[in-house]
Amino acid sequence: VKQLGGAGFEFYSEEMQTGSLERLKMENDLRKALQRDELCVYYQPKVCLKENKIYEAEALVRWNHPESGLVSPGSFIPIAEETGLISAVGEQVFVQSCQQISAWLNKGLSIKVSVNLSAQQLLHNDLVSFIGDTIKAHKVPAHLIELELTESSLIEDPERTVEILEQIKALGVTLAIDDFGTGYSSLSYLQRFPLDILKIDRSFLKEVTSADPQQATLTKAIIALGHNLDMKIVAEGVETRAQLDFLKYQHCDYAQGFLISPPVPAQTFFELVERYNA
Ligand code: C2E
Ligand code: CA
Ligand code: CA
Ligand code: CA
Repeated sequence: VKQLGGAGFEFYSEEMQTGSLERLKMENDLRKALQRDELCVYYQPKVCLKENKIYEAEALVRWNHPESGLVSPGSFIPIAEETGLISAVGEQVFVQSCQQISAWLNKGLSIKVSVNLSAQQLLHNDLVSFIGDTIKAHKVPAHLIELELTESSLIEDPERTVEILEQIKALGVTLAIDDFGTGYSSLSYLQRFPLDILKIDRSFLKEVTSADPQQATLTKAIIALGHNLDMKIVAEGVETRAQLDFLKYQHCDYAQGFLISPPVPAQTFFELVERYNA
């Protein structure tokens, strides 16, 4: 049993996922979870480093399991992807995020929320109309929505993906490349796809403050590359003050990580932002 950020315990261990019976149980449980509204969304702030203010958050799904408490996405997203349930999961996360943006706007707080999109969702026929309809239904300004895509999901069907992404961008939604630097694809896709934001994977942050100056070279190069392509840069997994200082010095645009806050429920996020931006 792994502990989940002090907020609960995970019932599904890695070993359980490998057994087919346990997988089947999880698939069934997940189907029920979708019907019973057991999925909820936590929000992790991204700090604007220039202003030292929070205007943005990443939406991260959690499963409020009736028996085992809060289950983290690492243990059920892979099953959701294998079983095709990921599109339904993703739709619920997107709807909840829109409801939340709208609720915050009603309280006088404008927060841009980025939502993770799986490869399957991206190639799903109705994605563009689903996004357009949902933001309209919840009266969410499109510029307050961002979608996070991974390299692997972009290269599955590049031609079709470019078309879909252009349509999403035409709605006014922005696009981020997630976990940058961990994939196998060539750098050319940074120009090929209409991306606004580059999220440096947290593995690049680990060594930036070590005594060896070489360690920071890759991170600096990624920031420069993104800026030269007119993208904003988000650094993920910021855990120390030294990392934050490095990122500010390198003109990285946003920082996200446990140093600022772990992902938290919406109400906690609201209180955090009120304190932070005061
Ligand atoms: P991700 O998109 O790369 O999200 C960032 C993960 O890093 C989150 O884990 C977050 O809690 C964690 N994290 C944030 N700051 C730090 C830090 O300072 N140090 C460390 N060590 N970790 C940090 P989480 O919430 O468990 O999500 C794991 C992954 O599950 C996500 O990785 C994403 O790939 C997937 N995921 C989460 N929600 C969704 C969703 O709604 N849809 C899809 N398709 N995938 C999702
Ligand atoms: Ca992400
Ligand atoms: Ca990421
Ligand atoms: Ca990741």
